[in-house]
Amino acid sequence: MIKLERGVEPDDLRDNQAQWTIDLLASVVQHGSYKDIPDAEKNTLISKYRLVSVKKELKRTSHDKCAYCESKPEETGHVAIEHFIPKSLYPKETFNWENYLPACGVCNESKHNHDVLLEPIINPYDIEPNTVLKFKNFRLVPVSENMKKLADTTIEVCGLNTIRLYKPRSALMVSFTEYEDNIRDAISIYNEADTDRKRSHRLRKIKESINSILFLTKPNEKHSKFCTELLAQSEDYQEALVLVNQ
Ligand SMILES: [Zn+2]
Repeated sequence: MIKLERGVEPDDLRDNQAQWTIDLLASVVQHGSYKDIPDAEKNTLISKYRLVSVKKELKRTSHDKCAYCESKPEETGHVAIEHFIPKSLYPKETFNWENYLPACGVCNESKHNHDVLLEPIINPYDIEPNTVLKFKNFRLVPVSENMKKLADTTIEVCGLNTIRLYKPRSALMVSFTEYEDNIRDAISIYNEADTDRKRSHRLRKIKESINSILFLTKPNEKHSKFCTELLAQSEDYQEALVLVNQ
């Protein structure tokens, strides 16, 4: 999970949400509760938020990844619009722009109708996840005792420490180690250079290796928080940085 910047509310949502909310709440009153609205009627009333403009802005601001687990659609399937505050418990939040998050099917199903107002979890549009969560090997853990409740609830509710995520994280660890090997080789070849020309040429190779490893940490790459933390702990990468910046 990485910090996301919330996009601009699409005009077609802003212009219609008040009326759509009135219609939905009237139906809740008529049928006694949200869950008692007949399925067909409920579907007609609530499906209005599924606008192309809403999906597009959520995809753009989440780098086309799941806001919770940082998976890409090719890993966990279609990323859909998720209501952070569940619409089944709080129908008036159904058309609230700030209540939308792009989530993969697995996170969405895992979170289901968890009540975030009673037991808060991280909304990455509002909270910087790095202040709450960090990686310890392939697992997410709280950054401090103070953050334990928020971290543990988020991890549990979204299923962020499960085999479906250990697998891609371990595959990335393999790629990362290969990139690290390349950096180490480039450093050792640089150290053997006996002329300025060779040194300058070999420094270029180190820069290329740095760029390939940095690629994994870009926000539009899957599991970028995991890769960013691996990079921060890499001694080879730090040594290469010192060489290219000297
Ligand atoms: Zn997900």
